[in-house]
Amino acid sequence: MRFLFRVRGRRVRRLGLLAVSCAPLALWGASARADDGALFETVRAADLRVASIGWKLAVSNAPLCDRLEAGTGMQLHTLDQFDAARRESARKHFGFPTPVAVEGIVAGGPAEKAGLRSDDALVRIGSIEIAGLAGRPGTTDRLVAAQQAIAALPIGEPVAVDVLRAGAPVRLTLRSVPACRSRFELELDGGFGASADGTMVQIGSGFLDDYPDDQLAAVIAHEFAHNILHHRERLEARGVAYGLLAGFGGNVKYFRQTEVQADLLSVYLLANANYPVRAPIAFWRSFGPSKAGGVLRSRSHPAWRDRVATLEAEAAKVEGISARPIIPASLAERGAPLDGDWQSILIRSR
Ligand SMILES: [Zn+2]
Repeated sequence: MRFLFRVRGRRVRRLGLLAVSCAPLALWGASARADDGALFETVRAADLRVASIGWKLAVSNAPLCDRLEAGTGMQLHTLDQFDAARRESARKHFGFPTPVAVEGIVAGGPAEKAGLRSDDALVRIGSIEIAGLAGRPGTTDRLVAAQQAIAALPIGEPVAVDVLRAGAPVRLTLRSVPACRSRFELELDGGFGASADGTMVQIGSGFLDDYPDDQLAAVIAHEFAHNILHHRERLEARGVAYGLLAGFGGNVKYFRQTEVQADLLSVYLLANANYPVRAPIAFWRSFGPSKAGGVLRSRSHPAWRDRVATLEAEAAKVEGISARPIIPASLAERGAPLDGDWQSILIRSR
């Protein structure tokens, strides 16, 4: 059973690394009510960990993206997203004098440079009035609306930000930087699911407990690559439906093609963000034997050993290139229809 104490964005169908959902809820389980404050802080740290990795990937790879947004490096949250049972304790803990507040600040980003702080409550950013955004209790509507409005601000131009800090009005100036257009979200289910829906990357909280940042970045980079390559749109253009039947029938070749392409691009995304290019290999060597073999083997995804062999060959290529950013030639194909040819880009492990 799922037990979330806050709702996330609309559920997306998995275009994921895996279609495996397993681990019980370690942290966010039923016993969590004893100390909501400690739990909120644990979640804040986990959200910021995902946001910081996503930030590095999205900013350092902006030259690879054909859809950009105004990157600010602030992680937002809203009171609306807490379920009814915890909304009051969330209000006490975080304050929320306005409906949307800064949950965390990415180190070195524009928000930090502007002087924004955690728990600053947003009143206005440029022409965006936070109180004017519609939101229903129990949803992330208002959060998403705020994120989208901020993302659409003119990139690189200074905007005035009005916040309430411990009740007092503060005005700051924020200057965004170009970032690939994608949101990064932690899914608090304790599981090992990861997905990309074209505009968002979601990663299950199980990964955060079990893998170091480099390998977490590898998982996020794979999903992010799906968005950069417009895989959702290109699969839909092929008439391919997502979901549980993804691994069956004539659709398999298209899914496998997108999976191998995402693995290949992820190596470049990691290199450009200054992560080790062999992090995905380390991840699969750990994750593959325990969670991607046997009955958990997905037909829509190549075997993990073949993915490792393919990643190793690409990492070796990237290690020979010192310039950054590296812009792989394969990006030029993202405007073309998928042809289902995964065989020629996958390297077999033996
Ligand atoms: Zn994938």
